[in-house]
Amino acid sequence: MIAVYDTMARAVTGVRPADARTLTMYTCGPTVYRYAHIGNLRTFLMADLVRRAFEYAGVEVRQVQNITDVGHMTDELFDRGEDKMLVAAGIENRSPKEIADYYTAAFLEDVRAMNIRPAADYPRASEYVPQMIKLVARLLERGHAYERDGTVYFDVRSFPGYGRLSGNTIDRLRPDHRKEIADPNKRHHADFVLWMRAGPDRAIRFPSPWGEGYPGWHIECSAMSMALLGESFDLHTGGVDNIFPHHEDEIAQSEGATGHRVVRHWLHGEHLLAEGRKMSKSAGNFYDLRDLAARGHGEPLAVRLLFLQCRYRAQMNFTMDALGAAERALTRWRRLVAGWTGAPLASPSHAAAAYEDRFRALIAGDLDTPATIALVSEVVASADLGPGDKAALLARWDAVLGLDLARDADASPPIPAEALELVARREEARLRRDWAEADGIRRRLAELGVQVEDTPEGPKPRRGAAPTTA
Ligand code: AMP
Ligand code: ZN
Repeated sequence: MIAVYDTMARAVTGVRPADARTLTMYTCGPTVYRYAHIGNLRTFLMADLVRRAFEYAGVEVRQVQNITDVGHMTDELFDRGEDKMLVAAGIENRSPKEIADYYTAAFLEDVRAMNIRPAADYPRASEYVPQMIKLVARLLERGHAYERDGTVYFDVRSFPGYGRLSGNTIDRLRPDHRKEIADPNKRHHADFVLWMRAGPDRAIRFPSPWGEGYPGWHIECSAMSMALLGESFDLHTGGVDNIFPHHEDEIAQSEGATGHRVVRHWLHGEHLLAEGRKMSKSAGNFYDLRDLAARGHGEPLAVRLLFLQCRYRAQMNFTMDALGAAERALTRWRRLVAGWTGAPLASPSHAAAAYEDRFRALIAGDLDTPATIALVSEVVASADLGPGDKAALLARWDAVLGLDLARDADASPPIPAEALELVARREEARLRRDWAEADGIRRRLAELGVQVEDTPEGPKPRRGAAPTTA
């Protein structure tokens, strides 16, 4: 059993799989119109840590993470700042599907770079529209929804439990809480859209019993979680900003449609801040892994270590200095582990067993990762453990920490697949003598923290800070 802070119970609560075998877990995923910033990655990492905690304890996990490629993206695509970014990425004039595919691939690349274990399934919202329509129809049938002019709304007053997760009960919500223009078709200001009628300019649209339209954002997670994990599952994760309205509305939809509780436990990660404010695209205070690589911080696992130094339910302020310190610690540990590996184990080592017990208790006790990192330092400095025991313990714990502690510290981190593809495209451009294209690709590579040297044997990519970008 692993204890975590359950947002619904408002207490640290033991979690175990309902069927005593496989923990079923749903993780709110990225909206794929931009690169995930490291704040997003912090929340995804929290899900990875719970999952690794269960797997370390011998419990199988079935994790599903959605990809939002419809329903939550169009407004932002018209944002001017975003257009600039798309131009810089060299992907202007692409269709929404091409943009979604590009950023989905980039997200999966980030997941791999951060040693986040891949989910069993990454359902795309655009592929589950029939399931969403069915769910909306079920809510209409059960009297939890109503339709006006091709748009279907959830009727919050039909669901007595509304507000249980977030504390935002109907009587507490002010009419302007959604910061949107008052919609005269709503019966109550807190009602929310399940299905939206498509206006004439709307590019992505689907046929439905209510005319052409597209799904609301919240319905996708209700539909995909239940389609893939069943109408009752163990754990649902997200960031604290998902609690309201996203998860409150998800509960109303899923429980309204089924008539029973669907999610057994809710887990939310606190925000990553930068300059004291929530990291976000709109505040402009965000970094993604590519930005960090371009500034010479090309080891994503140092970001992972930095995040482990703070517990998931505390806010954390990101600074480059702290990242630099995490990089140095990681390199030092890797060098030490490399030197110790293969040294004989002192047998029997009661000291090693005691450390192992402490590690397990820290992980099972609400993912106390900062204490596990302190424990790593303690092991490194310990006088009662031999080098072989130290290496063996740290290599074992790496199954949870995911820091590649046994990796050769002096080898540079691997070149991402995305960059290798660009290197090949640049070579083709050079063969065509298209120097402008080749230079453009070189700049893109620099943004990814990759330099190319042209040698008689062909191009040689290597990791390194880009001199051209600040
Ligand atoms: P999005 O791609 O905007 O839908 O966000 C993906 C996930 O990142 C959601 O679960 C958010 O709760 C989470 N998130 C967004 N901003 C931050 C932040 N600054 N720190 C931690 N998590 C965040
Ligand atoms: Zn969601």
